Amino acid sequence: MTAAPETVQEIRHAEVDPRIRIFQAGEDVDTFAVLTRRFAVLIDTMSTPALMRQVVDMVRPELAGRPLMVVNTHADWDHVYGNVLFTAGSEIPALIVASALTRDRLRSPAAQERLSAQRRESERFSEVDLVAPDVVFEQGLTLDGGDLTLELFATPGHTPDHHSVWIPEIRTLLAGDAAEFPFPSVRRGADLPEVRASLERMAALRPAVVLPCHGGTTGPELLEQNLAYFERLKQALRGWPERGRPQGELDFSALPPSLTYENLLKDLNVTVERVPEFYRRFHSDAVRATLEELGSEEG
Ligand SMILES: [Zn+2]
Repeated sequence: MTAAPETVQEIRHAEVDPRIRIFQAGEDVDTFAVLTRRFAVLIDTMSTPALMRQVVDMVRPELAGRPLMVVNTHADWDHVYGNVLFTAGSEIPALIVASALTRDRLRSPAAQERLSAQRRESERFSEVDLVAPDVVFEQGLTLDGGDLTLELFATPGHTPDHHSVWIPEIRTLLAGDAAEFPFPSVRRGADLPEVRASLERMAALRPAVVLPCHGGTTGPELLEQNLAYFERLKQALRGWPERGRPQGELDFSALPPSLTYENLLKDLNVTVERVPEFYRRFHSDAVRATLEELGSEEG
């Protein structure tokens, strides 16, 4: 496991509109600030309040005279644990906006159990409290910032509550975890059709810039690459002789050469050392999920 990040770095890319600020906490997660004429919006709140406090400090000069809003793309812990900074009575209160499904996940016993377990493991979670959104929406939401519009729309698959943010004026997509470099995390075979449909929905917008929360990339080709990854898994696994065996007995070291982790990364023009090690597990998860999907299609 990689060390938990302690510092946040601001990242700049020439192709990204300067009204969007990108903050990176090591290999953990990226969080964004969108500075519109009428308000400022933080997209997600990092994996700890300490990390999110650094983001707030870096955008603070931009907040003078602008109301602040916080959007949660989904309820996974690395996107919401900084919500506690924005509650009423805190130093920087803000309205937190998210889908009703994200609210329900944040209020669930499962979320509380996960946080309790993390608190037992590490000091870094001692300040965290689960804070559900103040404003919830059912079917997407438009935030009109005057010069920039933020369109929140459903992109389920990675999680059922997931929403991405489209800013049409600058053809920029904040994908959340619905796209990821080198590939997104998928937990179950039953989620794969939604993962693909969400990638297709995002690609249909024809964005000029795509900013995922993991992977540090900006290019719109990410969406097609992610789609191609799942397609490649499905095609190659369909004919894999091992496939009929119960999953516990599968020999993942005997995967077809086109599906080894190393070869997949090579085709994405990236070396194994440049990608966080946990993507190796994401890849095994995706192989398992694809086998499940193939099995259910036949069943
Ligand atoms: Zn995430």
